[in-house]
This record gives sequence, structure tokens and C-alpha cells, in this order.
Amino acid sequence: MRLSQMLFVTLREDPAEAEIPSHKLLLRAGYIRRIGSGVYAYLPLMWRVLQKVSQIVREEMNATGAQELLLPAMQPSELWKESGRWDTYTQAEGIMFSLTDRQNREVALGPTHEEVITAIARDMIRSYRQLPLHLYQIQTKFRDEIRPRFGLMRGREFIMKDGYSFHTSEDSLKQTYADMDRAYRNMFTRTGLKFRPVEADSGAIGGSGSQEFMVLADAGEDEILYTEDGKYSANTEKAVSLPPDAVPSAFTTFEKLNTPNTPTIDTLADFLKCSPTQIVKNVLYQAVYDNGMTVLVLVSIRGDQDVNEIKLTNELVKLGDRFGGKTLLALTVPDAEAQAKWATKPLPLGYISPGLEDSYIGKQEKLHPKFLRLVDQTAVDLQNFVTGSNESGFHVVGANWGTQYPLPADVVDIRKARPGDRATHDPSQTLQTARGIEVGHIFQLGTKYSKALGATYTSETGEELPLVMGCYGVGVSRLAQAAVEQNHDNDGIIWPVAIAPYHAIVVIPNINDAAQVEAAEKLYADLNAAGVETLLDDRDERAGVKFKDSELVGIPFRVVTGRSLQQGKVEVVKRATKESQEIALADVVSTLKQWVQEAIG
Ligand code: ATP
Ligand code: MG
Repeated sequence: MRLSQMLFVTLREDPAEAEIPSHKLLLRAGYIRRIGSGVYAYLPLMWRVLQKVSQIVREEMNATGAQELLLPAMQPSELWKESGRWDTYTQAEGIMFSLTDRQNREVALGPTHEEVITAIARDMIRSYRQLPLHLYQIQTKFRDEIRPRFGLMRGREFIMKDGYSFHTSEDSLKQTYADMDRAYRNMFTRTGLKFRPVEADSGAIGGSGSQEFMVLADAGEDEILYTEDGKYSANTEKAVSLPPDAVPSAFTTFEKLNTPNTPTIDTLADFLKCSPTQIVKNVLYQAVYDNGMTVLVLVSIRGDQDVNEIKLTNELVKLGDRFGGKTLLALTVPDAEAQAKWATKPLPLGYISPGLEDSYIGKQEKLHPKFLRLVDQTAVDLQNFVTGSNESGFHVVGANWGTQYPLPADVVDIRKARPGDRATHDPSQTLQTARGIEVGHIFQLGTKYSKALGATYTSETGEELPLVMGCYGVGVSRLAQAAVEQNHDNDGIIWPVAIAPYHAIVVIPNINDAAQVEAAEKLYADLNAAGVETLLDDRDERAGVKFKDSELVGIPFRVVTGRSLQQGKVEVVKRATKESQEIALADVVSTLKQWVQEAIG
């Protein structure tokens, strides 16, 4: 492709709409244009990158025996009502775009495709002989993200590879899951990115496994905790660790003390000259279940620790039966306005005790009349602890479970693991932290969707059983931008060769110099003929502008038909290292071909 004929517009200045380097660079280098909130046009250079990423994904998926298909983006509400996700996806979480057509039918734009694929499996899979089966697609997804940002990282319309596998047993699922783990490692290795597989939260469906693949980059939205020995890495949402040891309490008798202005753990520890590990902190949450039931949750946890709200959510979903709910619509720390709706009198905020009376909760329909009391293991282990007294300005010291407060029956692990904590597999290892961009997620689903939609098969013994399922996603467009976030410098993008829009760019410093033009035209034709995907910068621009643009756009190899032509040579520059060398005209094609092959493997 000739730049003179291409839609090629670069910007000198950073666009105001972009915060992180990759977003700025993709806009500046003419890869993407913002059309609306979270909605981007993939311009010709970007489209080539996306096709390369897609092709790598496709090849690795096909190698495992998965079959590609294409499902509709537009999906009828009936399927989502069958799975029970219509209300949560359109209202509660509200991440799904939905609309009503002229026939008054409700439809949605697919944020994901479990329902559609399970409906197909229900229709077409009859017997164990058809299993296992793995189907995938590469398609545009729609999600009404509350905070679309960072360009393609979190879009409202984006490209995803999503695959779904069907099995007769958990064992068969685990095999495909292991195949996907390998396939994903292969694909991300082939894209040339530094990545890390991590244990991930699998929500309340739980039980089985879930793993995310993180591209390592400082601007990543996810925090990863890992150990140096390479044996543990997890998303913080999921991570477990050993808490630091508690300092034994200096208080030996139970007393109530006047502790003015100590509503936080820090102020209290300061005032009492005690360690935060001697304090039981009581945090109030408000949970709303999908049946509309509001439950007030009182969590007791050791003072130096924090609640992991993902873990808390999972526990609350597990306890849903008690309140007639299956999932949570919301989990919040109730503010004054929320408290006013149910509290019978002002709460002793900052001074709450584990024994906060249920009489604080008014009698209302759809309001559970008692606190759901949960205690984290870190608080269970404390003796002679400090905690609130239910009276503003006062705390108690020397308290014990079973003496002053009954130990709640629901003991849970909802503590947030932190960098510096000791690892559970080997306490001599401490958790380190890194930031990552989630580009893939593999997940053992089990029978959640097959049961809900009635997707069954007939087993070898003639039994009708629900299909066991797995699902596997890759954020294709997010990955393309993550590559830039990980690989750039002050001058622009540094594409890994495997996903660069072009491998090489031939730059003619002066288009009025016939010898330069002739040599460049020949190289351009020969390189392309040899399979080295090459651009020709034949624009009527100053050489400096062309060099700057080639660096900004990030093409791996630049060939310049400049001064050294007189000696039958051209200058060849590697974008990543800026290393420059003179190469004889006759050797350019073979050299670049070799470099490209070495890089792509
Ligand atoms: P996140 O936690 O980042 O919101 P998710 O867990 O909701 O993502 P999945 O449903 O697992 O995402 O989707 C599979 C993959 O699709 C993700 O691993 C991610 O790479 C990509 N993805 C998800 N949401 C977006 C988005 N809004 N924009 C671009 N890519 C996305
Ligand atoms: Mg995910």
C-alpha cells in the first residue's frame, strides 16, 4: 500500500479524550476514531491488526478441534428469560442493550452468547455420541458499560472470540479446559506479548475453575498477586493468603471506655495505643436479592483487614436460599439516605458492635427483619479484643466471642489478600503485585445454562442428562490495544511483528530524486512479492515528517532509500531498538524476510 493513496492522517498533539498511552497513540497514529461513547471505527491499519490477532486466535482454536461459526448479535428476550438473566442484564446490572421492535417484541444486542449457543445445543445435540463438541465465533459484542474508557480497552461495542464446549462429564470438560489453557498460552505467546495466567473469580457458580490471562502493563485495570517462585498467581478479586499474625491483646478485662472521636480503626488504635489486629471491625452492607428482598449484612473482620466485596458477594449468593433469592441485584455500603429508608433510629456509625440489635431494622415488606451476621476467620481467632459499643464515642476492650457476643454461625473467608501477605502454599513466599489487562478468560460453567434451558443428551445407558459446559473468551480488540500499552516509547507504537499492520515501510526521503524513487519502487514490489507486507511512503512530505510518522505508526522495519544509494545500499532501521544498519540493495528482501520469519516463528 502506498501512503499517498491511503487514509493516513496522523496527529502531532495528544487528543484530549485519551488518558493512557495506548489510547493516545492509536488515535494519533490514525488507527481508530471515536464515533460515540465507547464506540470506535477501526480504520484500515487497525483492521489489519485486528485481522492478524483474529487469525492467530482462529488457528490456535482450530488446532484444538474447535469449530468456528457465527451466531446472531441480535437475540430474542425469550432465551434470556429462560436462563433467568433478562432482568439482571437489562435492569439490575443493565449491561445489555435491549430494545422493542415494531412488532412489540423485546430483543437485545448480545453481550455474550451462552443462551443462544445452549439453545442450539438443545435443538441439535441428542446423544453422547455427538460429544464433546466445541463451537466458537469471532464477533462484535455489545455491552452498555457504565464507564467506557481507555479506547478499545473498555468499549461498548468490541470484538470478542467466544467459545462454548459441551460434554458428558466434568472430566471431559476438564480436558477441554486444559486444552484451552494451552491454546491460550500459545496464542498470547504468538502475539508477542508478555502475559500471565491467573486464578480468577468464577462468581457464585463457583466450584469448578476459572482462569484469566493478563497482559502485563502498568495501566491495567486488574491487580495481580503472585509469588516469585511462580507457583501462585491470582486476580486480587480471587487471591487468598495468610493474614499477618495478630498482636496479642494487652486488655485482660472487659470494660467500656470513653474513646471520643475514634470512628476509624486508625484513630481508635492511636487513642488506645493498641494494634489494629486487636480490633474487631464491624462493617454494614446492604444487599438486594433478585426477588427484591433487602438484607442488611453486618460483617465482623479484624481491624487491619479489608472486606473483599467479590468474595462477600459470592457468600451472599450462596446464602440466597435463606432469603428466597438466587442472585444479588446490588451490594452497597448504605449511605445516610439508604439508612433512613429502613433504620428505626440513627445507627452508632463508627462505633458499631457485633451485637448491634435487630431492632434497628424497621418492619417492612421485602426487608429482612434481622441482620445477617457474618464473621471473617481473622476476627474469629481474636481474644480480649477491642470493638464498638453501639454508643457513639465509646468502645469496649477485653471482649470475647461466646462471652459478650455470640459467635455468628456464618464464619466466612471474605478478607482481601494484599501484597506482602504470606502465601498459603509456602509461607516463606510473600505476595507480590503487578498490574494487568485481562485479555482472556476460560471458565468451567457446569450445568447452569443447560439446566435452565433444558439442554440435555442421552447417555450411553439411556439416561437423559444436562450437558456439561465450558466457555472461553478472548478480547480481540482489547488485546490489540493492550499490545500497544505494553509496547511503545516516546516516539510511538512498537508493534510485535506478528500483529503489526505491516512488517516493513519503505521511505523515500525525497520524491523528486528519481534514483530514490526507482530503488524504493523496486524494493516495495519485491518485498511484497516475497511475503514481507510492506508500505511505501511516497508522499510529498519532508523526510523528517516521514521518519516521525513511521515511528509513530510503529511498523517494525524501516527501509530508507537515502544517501547510501550511491554505494548500492539502503538504511534499515529496527523500530523496537532504533538500531540502524546499511544493507546492500540485493540483500534487503532476504534479510527482511528472515527477520520477519524469526519474529513470527
Ligand atoms: P471485565 O472484567 O474487564 O469487564 P469481563 O470479565 O466482563 O471483563 P468476559 O465476559 O470474561 O469479560 O469477556 C471475555 C473477554 O472480553 C474479556 O477477557 C476481555 O478481554 C474482553 N472484554 C470484556 N469486556 C470488554 C469491553 N467492554 N471492551 C473490550 N473488551 C472487553
Ligand atoms: Mg472475565
